[in-house]
Amino acid sequence: MAKQKICVNLDCDDFHMSNMKCLKYFERLCEEFPGINITFFMPSNYHGNGEVTPGFMDSVKEYLGHPKNWISYGLHGFLHLSPTGQGEHELVLSLEYFKAMMNGIKYLPYDNVFRPPGWMITHEILKYLKDTDWVIAGHPNNYNNISFINIHESIPEHLLENVVIHSHASSQRRNLNGIDTEASYQNTQKIIQHLHDKYEIIWVTSKELYLRGKLK
Ligand SMILES: [Zn+2]
Repeated sequence: MAKQKICVNLDCDDFHMSNMKCLKYFERLCEEFPGINITFFMPSNYHGNGEVTPGFMDSVKEYLGHPKNWISYGLHGFLHLSPTGQGEHELVLSLEYFKAMMNGIKYLPYDNVFRPPGWMITHEILKYLKDTDWVIAGHPNNYNNISFINIHESIPEHLLENVVIHSHASSQRRNLNGIDTEASYQNTQKIIQHLHDKYEIIWVTSKELYLRGKLK
């Protein structure tokens, strides 16, 4: 019997200078699973841990800016922490700051896909993104046809036709799904191998995957 086809993207939130260690694990996954597609959502200054400076953007460009067919780039927040210290999610609440952020990163080869930091977004920014043809990579629970696999949790028994394998660049701040340890790497490897055994995988970018998403 032919295997069921599923579209899959491995995403990685919160990439920044202090967690480049994760790259070696992603490179290993790439060697092991040809055709894999990984979307890095960045940049992030995770709760003040790691300055986001012009130097950061240059380094990101140096490390990730070269075209690699297994990487795509999505926009996250510069900061989960607010620039003024007024509130953790100030960034996603201010359209002005959001526009400044988008201006700051325009030379990087982003797919126009946005992952809201902390899954939070305002109606105002949502409208702005839709008007400017951005795709929102929201929480998969909001979609009828996207399954979500956190790399430190077990695989749901029934998967929908689109699958997000979700990770973070770092396991700091108690992110159990950070791909920066041998154990989390092996977990991810196990998940992908399981999907390979059971399904026919079509690797897609996060943008391609969410374009297929049907909101509840
Ligand atoms: Zn984040």
